[in-house]
Order: sequence, then C-alpha cells, then structure tokens
Amino acid sequence: MSKILIVEDEEAIADLEKDYLELSDFDVTIETRGDDGLKKALSEDFDLVILDLMLPGMDGFEVCKHLREKKDMPVLMVSAKKDDIDKIRGLGLGADDYITKPFSPSELVARVKAHLSRYKRLVGSTTQKNDIIEIRGLKIDKTARRVYIDQEERNFTTKEFDLLTFLAENPNHVFTKEELFRKIWNMDSVGDIATVTVHIKKIREKIELDTSNPQYIETIWGVGYRFKA
Ligand code: CA
Repeated sequence: MSKILIVEDEEAIADLEKDYLELSDFDVTIETRGDDGLKKALSEDFDLVILDLMLPGMDGFEVCKHLREKKDMPVLMVSAKKDDIDKIRGLGLGADDYITKPFSPSELVARVKAHLSRYKRLVGSTTQKNDIIEIRGLKIDKTARRVYIDQEERNFTTKEFDLLTFLAENPNHVFTKEELFRKIWNMDSVGDIATVTVHIKKIREKIELDTSNPQYIETIWGVGYRFKA
C-alpha cells in the first residue's frame, strides 16, 4: 500500500483528500503545519507528498526545498493562486506537479496515481545501474545515497554523505580542510573549516571500528585528510 503525506492546514480540504485517497487504498497521513510536515516527511518513508503552499510554521516553498535536499519522492504542490504556480516553476524547486484549488478530489487521485506509477517505473529502471563504491566492508550506494558497513546501514546526513563520497571517489589524494570545505559547502554561507573536522569525526564514528586508529579516512597532520584505498 502506498503511503501518502498530506501537508495542508485547511482541515476540510485535508479530510476530503484523505477520504478520496483512502477509497483508492492509499495509506494517508495528515500534517497541518509546514515544519511538522517536513519533519514527518524526513522521518518516515512516504511514496508521495501532497504539499499546500500557504502553511503555518514553514511555507510550501521552503518545505519542498528542504525535502528535496534529503529525499527523492514525487511532490505534488497545491495552491489557490495561479501566480504561485508560475513561481513554483520559476524557482525550480523540484516539485513534480502542481494543482490549483479548487480541484476535484478525483482529479487529485488520478494525478497521484500517475506520479506513483511513473516514479516506480523510473526507480525500477535504474536499480540495475546503482552507482556503488565498495572498499573493505564499506559500501556507498551513490544512487540511493546510503552507506553500509558490513551490510549494515548507517545513517548519514547530506553533508556527511557528500564528504565521505567525495573522499572515497578520490582515494589516496590528500585534501586540505579548506579544499574540502569549498568542495562540499561551496554554496553555503554558514560554517567554516572547523565544520570539516566535526563532520570527519562524525563520519568516523559511523564507519570506523576504532576511531583512534581509522582504517578509511586518515588524518595527515598539518595538511588535511585522505581516504585510504
Ligand atoms: Ca493553506
């Protein structure tokens, strides 16, 4: 059964959407605030998110942006204004579709079904081609953005994943903290090179058996780090 998350502050609309989706055998969860909706979407696995634009806590634009940084699933945006739809398109937020209020619930259900089947086809066709790096028990699945140690999954944040993957893709190359900071955090204004040290520490805690004697990421004193091939 596909799981759908509805983020909508108008209770009547949310309930109507839920009723129709449940009639089509979907498992539906409702969140009424943007920030709560984002939290929910990140903490559980949903197959699709129906996201209203005007929401308390955090607006739909922000929710979509943050969600896209971490998760890959169809997002269907809902708005009362045609202008917003143009804005969604213009911002390139990664929303897969948009629908304007008022809409018929059956149209919504049809769109949800179409997106789910298209998404499943896409995912299905790429499973053979997952881009995987494997080194001494460490496995990085770049396509699914997952990390395993001896088949056991470890949870990585976006930046931790990017940093580990970058180092693993350039084995034996020594990078300075400045280089790593520029490479991984290039667009972000917050943080400094100390962030690199903190992230390396967190990554080691997740992948190393003994963090004082790291097998994967080696500290080159006074220079930076290198991934041992
Ligand atoms: Ca609203």
